[in-house]
Amino acid sequence: MELSGIGIGQGVALGPVIRMADPLPEPLDAPSGRTPAEEGERARASLGAVAADLLSRGERAGGAARDVLEAQAMMAEDPTLQEDVTARLAEGKTAERAVFEALAAFRDMLVEMGGYMAERATDLDDVSQRVVSHLAGLPAPGVPDPGYPFILVARDLAPADTALLDLGTVLGLVTSEGGPTSHTAILAREKSIVAIVGVADAGRLVDEDEIILDAENSVVVSGPNAAQKAAAESRIAARAARQNAPIRPGALADGTPIPLLANLGSADGAARAVELGAEGVGLFRTEFLFLGSTSAPTVTQQQEQYERMLREFPGRKVVVRALDAGADKPLAFLNDADEENPALGLRGLRSLRASEDILREQLTALANANAASDADVWVMAPMVATVEETRYFVDLAHELGLKTAGVMVEIPSAALLADRVLQHADFASIGTNDLTQYTLAADRMLGTVANLQDPWHPAVLRLIREVGEAGAALGKPVGICGEAAADPLLAVVLVGLGATSLSMSAPALVDVRASLARFTLAQARQLAAAALQADEAASAREAVKAVASAFPEPPEGLGSSAAPEPTEPQQTIPPREVLK
Ligand code: PEP
Ligand code: MG
Repeated sequence: MELSGIGIGQGVALGPVIRMADPLPEPLDAPSGRTPAEEGERARASLGAVAADLLSRGERAGGAARDVLEAQAMMAEDPTLQEDVTARLAEGKTAERAVFEALAAFRDMLVEMGGYMAERATDLDDVSQRVVSHLAGLPAPGVPDPGYPFILVARDLAPADTALLDLGTVLGLVTSEGGPTSHTAILAREKSIVAIVGVADAGRLVDEDEIILDAENSVVVSGPNAAQKAAAESRIAARAARQNAPIRPGALADGTPIPLLANLGSADGAARAVELGAEGVGLFRTEFLFLGSTSAPTVTQQQEQYERMLREFPGRKVVVRALDAGADKPLAFLNDADEENPALGLRGLRSLRASEDILREQLTALANANAASDADVWVMAPMVATVEETRYFVDLAHELGLKTAGVMVEIPSAALLADRVLQHADFASIGTNDLTQYTLAADRMLGTVANLQDPWHPAVLRLIREVGEAGAALGKPVGICGEAAADPLLAVVLVGLGATSLSMSAPALVDVRASLARFTLAQARQLAAAALQADEAASAREAVKAVASAFPEPPEGLGSSAAPEPTEPQQTIPPREVLK
């Protein structure tokens, strides 16, 4: 039996299934035998204990997990929630029932908001389960411990559980819910857990079933035959060998350097990224620093944050993105309008321009931080649609003392006019997440159109070719910083289309580095040509796999070991006829 879902990362796992225990039943809506004041005391104590437990789990886990768990702890202690619980207790309900109902109401509100907020709804379900079990004196729901390695199958995993998964025993993770941007997916990516989320039929997997998790191909194979098991085992061994290989600068098999950079939201992940071989930062998502702020951060506050990041990368390139506020990442101090279609609204550079003082302050803070560090700071604007916007941003950044200023190419209009855009910008960085969303008109947060959200689509690749060609003609660097760069085979295609550096979440670096080292620049261009000729994303992927499998493996030691020190190469890409 084969089940499909959304693979996170490139890993493979083989092992027996253990299912997560079913959630606690809904507390009965029977009248309480205690006074509302007594029940209120119990509710407050349990909410507080759960918040403290979540915070301590966050402390132990660190990184992105800590932020998620801190947010969950805040939900448990939210004053509006407490008021709602008190009102329900006044009706004579038990603490269990009042907390359950109040959190369910909170959850429904998030679901109604849709997008990123809706994906946080399961975090509230987890808080509810934890508080109800604490009130009942039962252990918190959590990951089973059968005493041997297993593949965990669950409806969705709470961040508190994902953050502390024991990677020695949990070989992989299958969830029936959750999309590519759910917390389970984000944390699985960060911890390099082999995972497939959104497997609608995961309920058909039973304890002790042997399964293969093939995240690269997004399939779960239940009851595999001997040949399938042998193939999985050899892929697991090959991946382990790659992960243990010495870290070298990113390069193609012919030595062409392709710097491999990290996408980061704060300096917290920097040390780990460096450990994994990040040669700098290709996308510093500064808006992540201020998602909870109600007023604009001061120049000094920003400067501190930027200096923290720059200190981690002495002598290295750090590409800082100006605040990308709006759509799924609203910032209270930049977005106030209620928009029907926020992804098409006042987001990114548009909202910064509408509050130019905030943009000026950010660029000033960055210029100050730059002056105080020896990192190589580049700055870029998000969501640039026109040549005029490019000139506006680049001129302003230069005026405020930032030497290298560029734009993100996330909107098809900017890709189609890349030759004009790059006349003004010092570099371009292609955000394939949004570029795919806008090219295919498929909301990147919406599971129902996830099949169209595929950067392998030849329409997206043609737009990337436009940018690659313009960069080559003008001698300007073209980076990629969307999730597409983290797909090892697509990464090679992107280089074949003219990308000069690749930036991704740090755990993806190992596989991408190994994949680049397999191909020469000429071969990367052949792969790109095969992808461009396809009609669909799926056939592009298949065509590239077929061409790639025909190339001989490069001899041991060739490739990244032959690479010179990483510098942004001046690339030349083949004329359009070759790529047609
Ligand atoms: C992108 O759109 O590809 C990108 C890198 O930006 P973000 O994912 O932050 O929108
Ligand atoms: Mg984007």
